[in-house]
Amino acid sequence: MADIELRDVTKIYPGASTPAVDSLSLSVDHGHIVTLLGPSGCGKTTTLRLVAGFERPDAGSVLIGGAVVAGPGAWVPPERRDIGMVFQEHALFPHLDVAGNVGFNLPKNDRSARVDEVLDLVGLTGFERRMPHEISGGQQQRVALARALARRPVVVLFDEPFASLDADLRVSMRAELRRILKAAGTTAVFVSHDQSDALAISDTIVVMRDGRIEQVGTPREVYQFPHTRFVADFVGRTNLFEGRIGTDGRSVETEIGSASCRHTHSLPPGTPVVVSVRADSLELDAEGPIVGRVKETTYTGRAIDAVVEVERADGTTRDVMVHAHPEQVVVCGDIVRFRVLPDFVAVIEE
Ligand code: ATP
Repeated sequence: MADIELRDVTKIYPGASTPAVDSLSLSVDHGHIVTLLGPSGCGKTTTLRLVAGFERPDAGSVLIGGAVVAGPGAWVPPERRDIGMVFQEHALFPHLDVAGNVGFNLPKNDRSARVDEVLDLVGLTGFERRMPHEISGGQQQRVALARALARRPVVVLFDEPFASLDADLRVSMRAELRRILKAAGTTAVFVSHDQSDALAISDTIVVMRDGRIEQVGTPREVYQFPHTRFVADFVGRTNLFEGRIGTDGRSVETEIGSASCRHTHSLPPGTPVVVSVRADSLELDAEGPIVGRVKETTYTGRAIDAVVEVERADGTTRDVMVHAHPEQVVVCGDIVRFRVLPDFVAVIEE
């Protein structure tokens, strides 16, 4: 059974000409981690607020744990929705210590045992008597999570929880948070505009645009096989090539050569298409069929991002982003050869 379900939910703010959330349907299974990902203004926060009960839908219904909490003739206020929330700014009570924050509003008989249990889960045993200003940003966030989990909610909602953390802490916190949520078996919905956070933490990513869902899939699916130009561009940078479905129906003849595809959407040979090929799906290889001249390189530690100028069949040129391994020496002006990794090409629906 889905822990959260939105059925054709629409929200139009007073005075707005377009809906913030437009006939959106989504279900989140028990124990799953889902991220709503999209640019500013696409309706992510409004969707989260509709689930939390801070907004009322104008149409459609919201179900939590199988029960309708908002919809025609039904309304359950936020405090009775069995939901935990973690915000960007942690929002800890400054005058309460860690144990006081985590135990706030818990029933007295179970309070101390439950506080011990969730502090152990988030790795903060021994910090009970510290005040919020005496612990780090990452620890504050874990306290906020412990507080959200303490009441054993059906689901925990996270609004940009990594936004106030610095880059290193952000990377370790998302791994830590995923481990804790999985250990607790908690269903979680995140809101993020950061694709690397979404790719790292989620079981499922919901890419949103203009109040609607553009694509739902695993992190690998939305990154490697975007269905639309918008998803291809938003979830990491990509190369878009024009081409036609090949005669075998399993490849695309692109402007820079032939590439095999796993999903060609059963389009007949000869159909004009656009394909997305990530820079890391292009491999430098002295035997590769594509030739180009390196125009620009950026060293990122894990890879070298190269911009390579490639000649098309008609004699015109275009730039292609290629990732090289850090041990490969790539210098501006070099002539390089590369290949498209088989099956790492996504056909975009136009
Ligand atoms: P961000 O990443 O910037 O928070 P978002 O994807 O979460 O954006 P929402 O905050 O859900 O987007 O906003 C969706 C649309 O609704 C936007 O056009 C926004 O301007 C509008 N909006 C949001 N809150 C209100 C409000 N309280 N009153 C009127 N319009 C609103």
